[in-house]
Order: sequence, then C-alpha cells, then structure tokens
Amino acid sequence: MGRLVMKFGGTSVANVERIQNVARHVKREVDAGHDVAVVVSAMSGKTNELVGWAKETSALHDAREYDAVVASGEQVTSGLLAIALQGLGIQARSWQGWQIPIHTSDAHASARILGIDGSEIVSRFKTRKEVAVIAGFQGIHKDSGRITTLGRGGSDTSAVAIAAALHADRCDIYTDVDGVYTTDPRVVPKAKRLDKVAFEEMLEMASQGAKVLQVRSVELGLVHNMPIFVRSSFDKPEDIDPHGTPPGTLICSEEEIVESQVVTGIAFSKDEAQISVRHIEDKPGIAAAIFGPLADASINVDMIVQNVSEDGKYTDLTFTVPATDFVRAKDTIAKAKDKIGYAKVDAATDVAKVSVIGIGMRSHAGVAARAFKALSERNINIRAITTSEIKFSLLIDAAYTELAVRTLHTLYGLDQT
Ligand code: ASP
Ligand code: MG
Repeated sequence: MGRLVMKFGGTSVANVERIQNVARHVKREVDAGHDVAVVVSAMSGKTNELVGWAKETSALHDAREYDAVVASGEQVTSGLLAIALQGLGIQARSWQGWQIPIHTSDAHASARILGIDGSEIVSRFKTRKEVAVIAGFQGIHKDSGRITTLGRGGSDTSAVAIAAALHADRCDIYTDVDGVYTTDPRVVPKAKRLDKVAFEEMLEMASQGAKVLQVRSVELGLVHNMPIFVRSSFDKPEDIDPHGTPPGTLICSEEEIVESQVVTGIAFSKDEAQISVRHIEDKPGIAAAIFGPLADASINVDMIVQNVSEDGKYTDLTFTVPATDFVRAKDTIAKAKDKIGYAKVDAATDVAKVSVIGIGMRSHAGVAARAFKALSERNINIRAITTSEIKFSLLIDAAYTELAVRTLHTLYGLDQT
C-alpha cells in the first residue's frame, strides 16, 4: 500500500463523460489499497475563456479579481469529480486551495507556493479512506486572504507540491499523451517515448519548449526528489494493472537511470526573437546598460552573444527574448539609446531555437561539433549558440526548424527503429 497523487489535465476532464473516466482511474488505485489525492485542472478551454472574459471586461483589470475569476474553472472540476467518485461508492471530498490551505506569495496570476498544510487530508486518509479531490492552479495569500493562481499550466505544480507535502510515493500526471518523447512526434514521427528522464534533463526540455509539464513543477520534483510519472488518461482504466508498469515516462533522479544516452531529447521553440545592437563601445558597463533596463522591465533574456572586438573599440551584441516580449524589448533598448550609445538595432522574429539535451554530455566531448557539421551539410545557418553542462541551443531561421530537429534526431540515434 502506498500514497499517490494523481493529476488530470484539462483534456482529461473536458466533459462529464471524461470526468467519469477519471473517477474509474481513481477507483482502480483506491481499490489497490492506496491513499489517493487527486489534483484537477479546469475543463480544457475553460481557463482561456475565463481569461478572455476578464480581459473583455477591462483590459487593465485588478490582478486579485483576475485570480478570483480564473480560479473558478478548477473549482468546478474538483466538485464534479468528487460527485463522480461518490457515485462509484468511494468516499471523496473536494478541496479548494484556501481550504487546505495552500499558501502562496501575493504575486497574483503567477504566485509561488510557500507552504501546504496536508494534515487534515492525511488524517482523513487514515480515519475514513477519503479521497481528496484538490483544485489545481490555485492557492491563497495568507495575509490578504485573497485567492491566488500559479500561472498558466500551474496545476502540474500544484500536484507535485501536494505530493511533497503529503509525502506521497509518486506523483502521476495523467495527460493526453502517454509520456515524454525524444522530441515532438508531430515533427518527427519516429520520436520515441522515453522510459526515464532525469529531473535536470526534463527541466531543460520543459524550459526549452517541450510543453508536457510546467517548468516549476519539475523544479519542485527535483528539490523534493519526488518521482513524477507522465502517463495517458485515455487508456481504459479497467485495462490497467495497478501493480504492473503502465506505459509512461518516469521523471526521477539521475541515479535511477542506469543506461543513459549521450543525448536524451531535442526541444525547440519558435516563439523567439533576436535583437542585435550594432556598433557599441567595447568597454565596461555597456552590457549593464543594455540588460539592466530589460531586467527592470521583467523581460527574460535567453541567449547572449557578444564578439571580442577586433580593434578593442567597437563590437556588436546579440540576444534573444520571448517573441511575446519582442516589441517591449525593442522599445526598452530604444529608450536607453543615449546610455548605451549604439549605431543601430537589427531585429528578427522569424527565428527558432533548437536545443539538444542529455546528461551524458557531461562526460562526452564533441557532441555539439557533430551537430554543426550535420546542419551545415543541410545548409542551415546558425545565428547564435549557447551551451550548458547538459545542453546546447542553436538559434536558426524558423523556416528550417523541422529540418534541423529531424536531422539532429537522426544524428544522435534517437529515431525509433
Ligand atoms: N487551468 C489552468 C490553465 O489552463 C491550469 C492548468 O491547467 O494547469 O493554465
Ligand atoms: Mg498542462
């Protein structure tokens, strides 16, 4: 007997029929003798609709009221699932973030979880075998008593945080895919499902564009060493042996991965924009003059490339920002023109970032060099490069994204045979 957190995303609770299906998944685990807490998202499309209503009412709305509105989607699904479970003869009770409570910061619309009191839920496991059905994505700010939300995709983070607070054995994330793939199967049909991925790798994959999990949830998994199992909610509940190993991907600590490949996966993102600041003085303080104002505007800069100047006087500096921040970033640089002192700014939005990820890179040399060669053979120009211990990222023309991803996927032996 163990303790499980089961999280179901929007497509898995999209309508009443699917919620009934989720209830049968939960019943299977309860029947197997586990303590179960379920975390649910809003029905798919619901949060977008709620966000739309808030914006339509007023473009400049109070963030506390935005949270009051958008948190309601999860309230509905938690109640419905509790009803469905009760209909199957299972003790179940819904919980909103404030009822547990899940305490968060007061950064409305992107709050961080500060603490969760799981004692009442655990005591009900013991005394009544009661399933806790928890609304994901939301919490409460202690001092103000206001409802908060954790940012889009935040119910993954709720689930992992709750799993840690309840000392669960595992956090199962049920979704519309049956695991984490070497890359997006829509781009590379030969992509393989990974059995295991290290937290660090998943963190890079999620930050670099893989959309299976919210990045913050993987961070929490790493911090608490909470195994996260990504699996499909569309398998028939009755076909699954609760004691067997179902298809899915386990995100776990590196030590548990025996056979590791040099490259685990390839992520990509087309939501990138490139800004090049031309002819700036090569002297101390210039980078600060560029990136200080961007940081003040909360613009996340990703890749940064600066040349060593030939004459010791002038150089260029290129960086990337999320496409959504492109206009603001350009404005910010334009406003700081006097301080920076550049000749001109070149910008491009038709760029994409392709990232190659694997913990095996720590101990293997020449991994990136092979990519440069393979891409050059396909005439794909690389605009910028960044590297870390377990990843390198290449900025290329967006038109070549698919070709580059496919080329690298084959190059590193990830194609399904
Ligand atoms: N319902 C929220 C969203 O769509 C949270 C989640 O589903 O994870 O962003
Ligand atoms: Mg999600």
